[in-house]
Amino acid sequence: MAELISHAQALQRSLALASALPGQSVALAGAHGRIAAETVRAPFALPGFANSAMDGYAVRFADLVAGSTTPLPVVDQILAGDIRTRTLPPGTAMAIMTGATMPTGSDTVVIHERCQVGDAQVVIPAGVEAGANVRPADDDCSAGAVIVSQGEALDAGRLSLLAAFGLQSVQVHARPRVAVLVTGDELVPPGQPLIVGQRHDSNGLLLAALAAEAGADVVAVEHCGDDPAQLRACIVALAGRAEMLVTSGGVSAGVADHLPALIAELGRIAYWKVAMKPGMPVLCARIGTTVVFGLPGNPVSAGVTFQVLARPVLEAMLGRAASGLIQGHARLAQPWHKRHGRLEFLRCSVVIDGDGGLVAEPFGHQGSGALSVLAQADGLLVLPEGAHRFQAGTRLPLLAWRIGIGIGTAAGDTSKAATPG
Ligand code: AMP
Ligand code: MG
Repeated sequence: MAELISHAQALQRSLALASALPGQSVALAGAHGRIAAETVRAPFALPGFANSAMDGYAVRFADLVAGSTTPLPVVDQILAGDIRTRTLPPGTAMAIMTGATMPTGSDTVVIHERCQVGDAQVVIPAGVEAGANVRPADDDCSAGAVIVSQGEALDAGRLSLLAAFGLQSVQVHARPRVAVLVTGDELVPPGQPLIVGQRHDSNGLLLAALAAEAGADVVAVEHCGDDPAQLRACIVALAGRAEMLVTSGGVSAGVADHLPALIAELGRIAYWKVAMKPGMPVLCARIGTTVVFGLPGNPVSAGVTFQVLARPVLEAMLGRAASGLIQGHARLAQPWHKRHGRLEFLRCSVVIDGDGGLVAEPFGHQGSGALSVLAQADGLLVLPEGAHRFQAGTRLPLLAWRIGIGIGTAAGDTSKAATPG
């Protein structure tokens, strides 16, 4: 058998097939979670005018008597949203509310609670600092500063910042369209009864949900039996409708595994079979301009190969500067023995320990059919190629979709951790 390529090589070949999709203008209200296709600079300073940070009295600092109280007549009152321009006459004070424009000539606000307020007069205490409680015109942001960078996800904070500048729309990368094709004569859609030997299709939902989580627009989820002519027709039709086609099943060496030959005939295979566990039979190809991932049918293999090979391609199409998944390192919670030389992605729980570091605890059942374990896992701990024995505390690469609460702490959790080497 030809030598398998590594996961790193497979990832590189997959990414070579992808480029960021063009930008499109969308209303801010519909841009949540989208990826910015432009770098936006502040069109002006924010808040744009000097204003009071507190409810109090606007004064000229030079009018205050050093080391003593200063009585001043109160000549006016300014509320937030009051757009009249006013000048503070020397030797006077104006009542001013939070967010209201500083009157011309004033430079300091003394907070209400520190003042002795009388009839049309206020006594300013000693010890006021020059410029206190005034937000300068560029307090939040100066004109021209970068407020959103290309490749950043538009979350609540970034969207609200764009809105604060009065913007109504933003350029975002188009979302890649993804079609999912589940294959196998044994598959029955959820909702229909099973005969012995059949199983419900769970990969359709799994792959559609993972693609949607990555930011894709899932345009189809279809099922086809293991018939070469029908598979061929389905692949052609779906590839024509999407930037990425994700299939499940039929890529191994079984007699019903028709996909590699069909895809080779319809397009160009970038790789087939990767030295990784689970998911070794994974295939990646291009049909026309569509990137095709042929994922193995075992549910865990399908889920893992999607996350570690297909998702990065979607993120590249989305123009993301950084993955939406948590990529870092974690310490192994218990010793582990890997019996093969391949790279392995262990389904694990991920928690934060007392020192604030990430700890990954692999689940005991690492079988590629253990969908219940994938469902509970917070992420994948990466055991590198070659090495076999890993001590507790070893620092290893981690790819996680959430920080969890630990194995056995969730209500109703019946799984065990263990299988130390
Ligand atoms: P295959 O890769 O086609 O050889 O399938 C491997 C295993 O995964 C078999 O036990 C299949 O029944 C199962 N399988 C394939 N496709 C799905 C699916 N869509 N949902 C659930 N299990 C599947
Ligand atoms: Mg099959």
